[in-house]
Formats: sequence, structure tokens, C-alpha cells
Amino acid sequence: MVEETDVLILGGGITGTGIARDLELRGLDTVVVERGRLADGATGNMHGLLHSGARYAVADPESARNCIEENRILRDIASHCVDETGGYFVQLAEDDESHFERSRQACLDCGIDVESVSAEEIREDHPYLASETKRAFRVPDAVIHPFPLTVANAVDARDHGGIIETHAEVVDILVEGGAVVGAEVRYREESKIETIRARHVVNATGAWAESVGAMANIEIPMRPSKGVMVVVDFPSLDTVVNHCRPATDGDIVLPHENTAIIGTTSVEVENPDDYPKAQWEEDLMIEEASRTIPDIATARTIRSYWGVRPLFGGTDVTLEDGRALTRDFALLDHGERDDRPGMTTIVGGKLTTYRQMAEAVSDHVSSELGVSEPCRTATEPLPGRDDPDELRNTLDEFGPLPPAEELASDVIRD
Ligand SMILES: Cc1cc2nc3c(=O)[nH]c(=O)nc-3n(C[C@H](O)[C@H](O)[C@H](O)COP(=O)(O)OP(=O)(O)OC[C@H]3O[C@@H](n4cnc5c(N)ncnc54)[C@H](O)[C@@H]3O)c2cc1C
Repeated sequence: MVEETDVLILGGGITGTGIARDLELRGLDTVVVERGRLADGATGNMHGLLHSGARYAVADPESARNCIEENRILRDIASHCVDETGGYFVQLAEDDESHFERSRQACLDCGIDVESVSAEEIREDHPYLASETKRAFRVPDAVIHPFPLTVANAVDARDHGGIIETHAEVVDILVEGGAVVGAEVRYREESKIETIRARHVVNATGAWAESVGAMANIEIPMRPSKGVMVVVDFPSLDTVVNHCRPATDGDIVLPHENTAIIGTTSVEVENPDDYPKAQWEEDLMIEEASRTIPDIATARTIRSYWGVRPLFGGTDVTLEDGRALTRDFALLDHGERDDRPGMTTIVGGKLTTYRQMAEAVSDHVSSELGVSEPCRTATEPLPGRDDPDELRNTLDEFGPLPPAEELASDVIRD
């Protein structure tokens, strides 16, 4: 059992493991503590879209630019976790003409490659699309597998000296002389509580960041938001289908092995551990997705799962100099913000932009600890890309697979 480290990272989702990898590559010692298995939170219960950014190009061009930049990086460093399906934004006869043109132009303005396709062309290649399809444009969307991606980050952190502790729940934050100096961790198997001291603590507990912050008397207003995904039997789906209209529920359908995964909704919940899961949410997914792909209405539903987004409810998105980092995620320097040095919180964002979030936190923590090594995660391939055995042998260690991956287990393990 480790007693001290440079950086103690709370939460073993994609953000926590991504930060551990980044800091280890810079030469800092890290420990990740995760209360369940790796990817137990939003990471293992998400939709699986490697965003091209097209979805955000009109309303949030900054997020869109971040997405396309990270999309290109992940296709390179983590190509083994990505299915190159491509994606389309599909306009139906009933949809607003001007939204299509606005979206297409906004993509170009954000540096996202688009290719216009006529109704005849797209229906020839993808005959399951509705006969009401009017036109479409192609974007570099893809499908990403969150579990091997999280494990690959954890394994690389470990290969560089990091420690990954699962079934290890933070039950208190240690504060001495006004500064955070570590945490108390309850280990499920040993059923005992241990203290881990650290030069810096990173709170990467997603939707649970508020309750973890409260352990250090820090207020972190979160607005956790649940979303449902419905999995239906649909072997012919071979690309990502986005309904081209202002973002709403059930607009995106992803291919996942022999199934289609329809998502999603966004409904605020009070408690990320205990929230209602209603039939109407599942019915709505089928209804909306069958507008672009009519046969979904009669396809066999295999199952549904829900995840909770770690959305930040505050407005103080700051770095040391007080400037907004991005509207997409929040990095909270608790020394600056709460007069509680020694701890940083990172919340929000998307799986697509996890590496960039990890880089921002790692830059910040490195500067706090006087380390000047640059970030290397944008160019160093993740374990498993060049040698599948590097990852295959470790997946079971962190399993069983979370809901977002169950159907792709053959792909992941073969
Ligand atoms: C419905 C839905 C669909 C989504 N679809 C997409 C998509 O298609 N594409 C995309 O890019 N992004 C998507 N996202 C967003 C993406 O999933 C999240 O932004 C990302 O996974 C957040 O990762 P995280 O590590 O910050 O949080 P999490 O994955 O939630 O990790 C936080 C971890 O902290 C742990 N924890 C909590 N309390 C403690 C404690 N006391 N001690 C120790 N550990 C603790 C939790 O168990 C959890 O594992 C979606 C999210 C949702 C909910």
C-alpha cells in the first residue's frame, strides 16, 4: 500500500487515467484511486462517438475546434480503440433548409472536412436511410471504445511507475495548515482505511466532484445530467448517422458490432448514484432515431443503459491568470479560487477531448511542482496500438466490461 506520492488522482475514468499517463511521462509519481472498477462512471456508460466537432460547430465553435484537433490525435495514438466508420449529417424533407447550410459552413469554418452527398448517392451506399432523406454531408466522426482507451492510459501510466488502485474509495481529504496534503482511502478488499499523502491532489471524480470537494470544505457546484442509450439489433448500420437539426434527444445513431446504439437525452439529476430510469426515455430514442432510419422502429431492442455527465454548474472557469480555458471543461485551481492550495479539480468536457483536459491539468500541476517537462501525449502512441498483446493481457485485470463495451467484447479482446 503506497503511503506517499507526488500527485494523487481521485477517480479512474478517462480523465483520471489520462492525467496519470501525462504526468508519468513528465517524470512525476502518480497514484490513481478509483472507488469501483476503471471506467465505472460516465466513461463506461457513454455513447461512443469520437466527435468530429460537427455537432458543436454552429453553437460552440471552440468546442468543435477542440474536438476535431483531438479526433485527429486519437485516430493516430489510439487507432486500436477507434472504428473508422465516418459519419453523416442527414437532412430530411421536414427539416429546416437553412440549418443544413449553416452547419456545413460552420464545419468548414472550424476546420472540419465536409463532403456534400446527394440523397441518391447516400441512399445507394446506406439503403437503410429514410426515403425522406433530402441530402447529407460527410464528416470524420468515428466510434471510440472507452474501456480499452481507459485501460491503455492506465497501463502506460503504470509502465512508467504509476500506481492504479481500483476498489479504493476516497472517504476524506486531508487538510493541514489550510492546504490539501492527501486523502484517506477505504480499500474494499482489505476493508481498511489508509492515508495517502501527496504534494498535489487532483479531483477527477466527474459527477461526484462536488461531494469529494466537500470533504475539503470546497464548494464545487455540479449539475449532473443523465442520458440514456438504447441498443437495438441492426447489423447493416455501417456509419454514424446524425440527424441534421438543432441538437435534441435521440439524434445520433452509432454502429457497434451488429447493433445500433441510439442516444441520447440530457436530464439533470440530483444524485449521480441514484436517479430514475424511465421507459419513456427509451421509447423516445426509438421514435427519434426511426426518423432517419425507419427500420429501427421494428428492430429488436437488446438493452438500454444510462450514464451521468459531469457538467460543471459554476461560472468560474479559471486558470492561474483567471482567463477562461474553454467553455467545454472547467479547471478549478483551489489555491486561487478557495484559498485551499494543493488541490485542483477538473470537470466537464467529453471523452473525445480527455487528452487535452489531461494536458491542461498536467501543465498546471507541473508548474505548481516546479516541473518543466513538456506534454508528450499527443504524439506517443498508447499501449496496444502497435502491439495488441500489450493491452489484451491486461484488459481482464480491469474487467468486467462496462455497459458501453459489452457488445464489442470480441473486438476489444481479439
Ligand atoms: C449519456 C452520455 C453520453 C456521452 N456520450 C459521449 C460521446 O459520445 N462522446 C464523447 O466524447 N463523450 C461523451 N460523453 C461524455 C464522456 O463520457 C465524459 O465526459 C467522460 O467520460 C468523463 O470522464 P471522467 O473521467 O471525467 O468522469 P467519470 O468517467 O465519471 O469518472 C469519475 C470516476 O470517479 C470515481 N469516483 C467517484 N467518487 C469517488 C470517490 N469518492 N473515490 C474514488 N473514486 C471516485 C467514479 O467511480 C468514476 O469512475 C457522454 C456522457 C454521457 C453521460
